[in-house]
Amino acid sequence: MREAVTDVDTLYDALELPAEGRAAARSATALFGLRVPRGYLARMRRRDPHDPLLRQVLPVADEHAEVPGFDWDAVGDNASAAGDGVLHKYHGRALLITTGACAVHCRYCFRRHFDYAGQHAGGAHADAALARIDADPSIREVILSGGDPLSLSNPRLAALGEGLDRIDHVSRLRLHTRTAIVLPERIDAGFIDWLAARRQQVVIVVHANHANELSDDVCRALAALRATGATLLNQAVLLAGVNDSPDALAALSEKLFAAGVMPYYLHLLDRVAGTAHFEVDERRADGIMQQLAARLPGYLVPRLARETPGAAAKSVRATTAPGR
Ligand SMILES: *Cc1c(COP(=O)(O)O)cnc(C)c1O
Ligand code: SF4
Repeated sequence: MREAVTDVDTLYDALELPAEGRAAARSATALFGLRVPRGYLARMRRRDPHDPLLRQVLPVADEHAEVPGFDWDAVGDNASAAGDGVLHKYHGRALLITTGACAVHCRYCFRRHFDYAGQHAGGAHADAALARIDADPSIREVILSGGDPLSLSNPRLAALGEGLDRIDHVSRLRLHTRTAIVLPERIDAGFIDWLAARRQQVVIVVHANHANELSDDVCRALAALRATGATLLNQAVLLAGVNDSPDALAALSEKLFAAGVMPYYLHLLDRVAGTAHFEVDERRADGIMQQLAARLPGYLVPRLARETPGAAAKSVRATTAPGR
C-alpha cells in the first residue's frame, strides 16, 4: 500500500506517457487522488495512454466536465445508510462500510464522493454496527465492503470476524474486494487463516474489468482463496475504452473461469459526477451482451445490472442472443 504510485509525474515517467496530458492529470487529482499499486502498473503497456488498465486509474481532463444526470450520490447510498456504516438496502443483506481506503483509486468509482468520514463502521462505530445487525434477525448475510475490507489489517479483521461469529442469524459472509486483483500480495497467510476460520459460508466477490488484470500472481492469490472453500464471483463495470466489446468481455469471462471465478454482475456505470466519459449507453450495452451470449456458455455471461435508487434489488437487464 505504501509503495503505491500516488503522483502523476511518477506514473507518467514510469509508463513514458505523452506529455500533453500531464497538466490535466495533475488538476484532476484534486477531485480524487491518484493511487496505483506498483504490481498493477507493471501489467500496463508502456507509451500507451489507451491501455485498458491505465484508463481505469489515469486522471483526465474529462473528469471536470459537468454532465446533466451525473450527480454526487448516484446510487442513493446516503439515503439507505442506517448509521454506523451499515447500508441496509436489500432484504436479508446488510452491507458494512468497513473503511474508506482502497488499494487502488478507480476513476469511475461510484463511491468517489461518498461521505466516508460520516459513514463507516470502523473504530468507535464498530460495536454499534454489530449491534444493529444483531438486532435484526432478518439479516442472514453480511457484506464487508468499503472502500475495500482488505485495507483493514488482519487483527482488525479478526475482531470483526469474532463479532460477527457471535450473531447467530448471520449465516453468510460476503467480501467485496478489488485488492485481490490489484494487490494480490495482500492475500497473505494470515488472511487465508482468517477465512478458513469463519463459521459462516464465505462468498468473495472480486472486481476485475479486463483480462489483462488477471496476471499469474493474481491467479495464484485466487487459487489460495478458493482453497479455503469460499465461493468466488466477479463483478465488473462496463467502461468505455476499457472493456466495451464482446471480445474484451469474453476474454475476461474465460480468464476468470480458468482462475476459478464465476462472472456475476456487469454493472452499467453509476452516473456519478466526473465519470461521464466512461459511460456506455444501454442500447449499446444490450448489443454487446447479445454478442457475448451468442459465443459463451450461459454460465460465463454476467448479468448486466443497473443500480436504481429505491429499488428492492439491482435491476438486471434481460439478454437475448440474436437468431443464428
Ligand atoms: C449491491 C448491494 C448489495 C448486494 O446485492 P446483491 O444483488 O445481493 O449482490 C447489498 N447491499 C447494498 C447496499 C448493495 O449496494
Ligand atoms: S476499489 Fe472499488 S471502492 Fe475502491 S476506488 Fe475502486 S471501485 Fe471504488
